[in-house]
Amino acid sequence: MMIEMDQHKIEDLIKSVESKQQMNLDILAQFIRGVASRSISVTTIEKWLKAVHTNGISVDETTVLTREMMESGAMLDWSDNRLVVDKHSTGGVGDKMSLMLAPALAACGLKVPMLAGRGLGHTGGTIDKLESIPGFNCLLSPEQMQKQVLEIGCCIAAQNNAIAPADGLLYAVRDVTNTIDSIPLITASIISKKAAEGLGSLVLDVKCGDAAFMKTQSDAEELAKSMVSAATGLGINTTAQITQMNFPIGKYVGNSLEVIGSIEVLQGSGSFDTRDLVVIQGSSLLIQSGLVSNQKDAQMMIHDVLENGQALEYFKQMCISQGVEKDTAESLIKNPRNVLPSAKNITRIKSSKFGYVGSINSMTLAEIARKHGAGRFTIEDEIIPEIGFEILIEHGQEITEGHEWLVFHHNERLTEDDLFKLSNSLEIVNQKPERTSRLISVIS
Ligand code: URA
Repeated sequence: MMIEMDQHKIEDLIKSVESKQQMNLDILAQFIRGVASRSISVTTIEKWLKAVHTNGISVDETTVLTREMMESGAMLDWSDNRLVVDKHSTGGVGDKMSLMLAPALAACGLKVPMLAGRGLGHTGGTIDKLESIPGFNCLLSPEQMQKQVLEIGCCIAAQNNAIAPADGLLYAVRDVTNTIDSIPLITASIISKKAAEGLGSLVLDVKCGDAAFMKTQSDAEELAKSMVSAATGLGINTTAQITQMNFPIGKYVGNSLEVIGSIEVLQGSGSFDTRDLVVIQGSSLLIQSGLVSNQKDAQMMIHDVLENGQALEYFKQMCISQGVEKDTAESLIKNPRNVLPSAKNITRIKSSKFGYVGSINSMTLAEIARKHGAGRFTIEDEIIPEIGFEILIEHGQEITEGHEWLVFHHNERLTEDDLFKLSNSLEIVNQKPERTSRLISVIS
């Protein structure tokens, strides 16, 4: 429905933000409905976004903004949403958690109607990873999402304009007006879409560190508090976990390679680092939803479904339900390398000295993978799924000179600059560093 709005009212709304006065919440609600119905000009939207980006808005205003954006499109409706859960990550390098978490939680008895995004900047996106599987369809309507979740417990679908359409336009305008990095705007954008899934519980993984959008713990905690407050205000039982994003997560970075890494964990093996994060996030949701009463049992339940093949079976069902041929899905979960695309060239990088693995510059790896096709620079760019890295070392491990530590899968020739940056992205230290958990703090 087209919403015609008096231009004076919008001017007053913008003036309130500019003078740091509370906006009239009814007018704010009308404005968002106008954005959703595409009846407000992009120039006016731009002015309002710039005012919010520069001056910030209050918690109450953020809650109204989030609610209106949520109600601007379809909402999934469950007769009882206590066991309906999801997770959102603010984005990292090698962050493939959703691929394992959705089927693992479904195997535990929860329902996961997950909406996910494509890569943003240097970070990878769940949808790009899943689309490296031949036939995988992420373009589900709200009705298809709901049907699949009722049938098999989980789905992973791309964000689309049926859900929170106000965000579709606001996000596109933010992208070209440098107004992305605003805590209230990020909060409303993320939480409106998650709330439209009709969730009972939500876990937010707020990444912090050199390769995250939030570089410091205090910035990550400020974003986490804002998102927890907006989601809780909408009746969702929400916890935010602040996690370390300095070292790439697990053994793989890149789209099809991260599918391989996820299947290895679902097969009961794979990287401990990746598995730990699945357990941390999954056990939190088992407790938040009330399905399990204590941490130890919740962790055990996630470990069990990863060990006994149940989570892998749910992953296979999800693939089949989302368009993958049955034979392909069966072969994928046994030997993913036979099904997924592979790169033309492999370059192995060796350590230049003896010592302990101190850190790996995740940003360098992500930027080089992106330049070779693992990510986009413009909206039209096509992802090349097979591009990426295998990381053969772990944080704190002893390493000798000449030890092969990184394998780059690429199609184009590497430049001298690529090779120089890759060789220098490994920091070797003299003292064995202490093993620390990725989990820094929890906000609920
Ligand atoms: N992801 C979103 O969906 N919205 C933002 O604003 C940032 C990341």
